[in-house]
Amino acid sequence: MEHRLRTISVVVSAMAISCTAQIVHAQYRVGVASTVITPQMSIWMSGYGSRDKPSQSVVQDLYTKALAIEDADGNRAVFLTSDIIGLTAILSDSVAARVSEKTGLPRSAILMTASHTHTGPVVGENLRTMYDLPREEWENIRSYTHDLEDKMVSVILSALENLEPARLERGNGTAGFAMNRRLFVPAQVAMRDNPIGTVDHDVPVLKVTDPQGKRKAILFGYACHNTTLSDYGICGDYAGYAQEYLQEQHPGVTALFFAGCGADANPSPRTGLEYAQQHGRELSQAVETVLNGPMTPVDGTIRTAFSNVNLPLTAAPTREELQKQLEDKNRFIRNRAKYLLETLEQNGSIPEQHPCPVQVWGIGKDFLIVALGGEVVSDYSLLFKYQFGKDRTWVAGYANDTPAYIPTIRLLREGGYEVEDSMIYYGLHGPWKPEIEPILTEEVNRLAKEVQQGG
Ligand SMILES: [Zn+2]
Repeated sequence: MEHRLRTISVVVSAMAISCTAQIVHAQYRVGVASTVITPQMSIWMSGYGSRDKPSQSVVQDLYTKALAIEDADGNRAVFLTSDIIGLTAILSDSVAARVSEKTGLPRSAILMTASHTHTGPVVGENLRTMYDLPREEWENIRSYTHDLEDKMVSVILSALENLEPARLERGNGTAGFAMNRRLFVPAQVAMRDNPIGTVDHDVPVLKVTDPQGKRKAILFGYACHNTTLSDYGICGDYAGYAQEYLQEQHPGVTALFFAGCGADANPSPRTGLEYAQQHGRELSQAVETVLNGPMTPVDGTIRTAFSNVNLPLTAAPTREELQKQLEDKNRFIRNRAKYLLETLEQNGSIPEQHPCPVQVWGIGKDFLIVALGGEVVSDYSLLFKYQFGKDRTWVAGYANDTPAYIPTIRLLREGGYEVEDSMIYYGLHGPWKPEIEPILTEEVNRLAKEVQQGG
């Protein structure tokens, strides 16, 4: 009897699904656009301080891509992805201001992310104290960043100009190559594979189809440093390959990648092109598995919220301490001291806090996208998924700005690269104060409440 009841209920729900499928009409209008942002000249590459010359070749083109969504009430939002190391606040604010001026879109409705490839160009002032470059290299970077800004604006505008009826579905897959990179060895945390460390292996996927069911775009993410490669060839690394393979598999479809909170994870194994392609293959197959399985329809109103929170740093160094650091044997510490002394000269003080953007989107009742600035560690994405529901919550890092690594209280206590040494390359004295965790989580909660009100 019990078995028969179960059979009936399965049949009934299958009928409900097929009826729903017939009457579903496109609730949204979606536009997609993509443009190449590969540097046209040899340029200094970002992410590693040890490089001693600019790029030598182009292994794979880099792209910036925009997915614009409009709901039935005319609310619009744009998700921008880029194969770059990271955004700066100057760049994303400028892109957003230009887009807002042309379209009336509020800042909160423009979400910009980066893939964090370490085989792309230096972007603006990102990681400013990692490089000690001659004037002509900085000129190249300035000119590249200027062009990048124009391309980001035009790709967003073109996605907004091409809105067509579409359906959205979301799902969640998994890929296993992200490896925690904080290994506890005597007296320190070493940057080495830690198979039992915290990691987020989720692969969030959003599928966009036209009313006839033809695929149009795939937005997906993964929480892992995009650092399989470390050489002198421009390349999107595993994220670039995952997008390339998906587009090959689905001609005419635009695949867009965003980085999650993988600041404490590296791809494993690394280093080398073969591994970048292997991880790209694994990630694209994880996306395929989601696309081929049952996905959850997305429906309802788009609500967006954005703010900047000030994150506190420990007490700033004195002028004397910085002058002493100018003699340090580590050239990156000398670079940072020089930069902070210039700041002191110009502003009369060194800031003991730094802004970090927080953005939250709610699409209908059941879909929440949290996007944080900075290199955010996996604790945050696990926390927000636990808090708001694992299946309905996406968490992006590297969003809108990359002021530094964003550790939790746990990591601040433990120490290691993500807490201490990385601050040198970001030109901040640091480390952060433990209060950054409650400040960020409370702000995410506040914004999440704002976008979920009314469902
Ligand atoms: Zn990084």
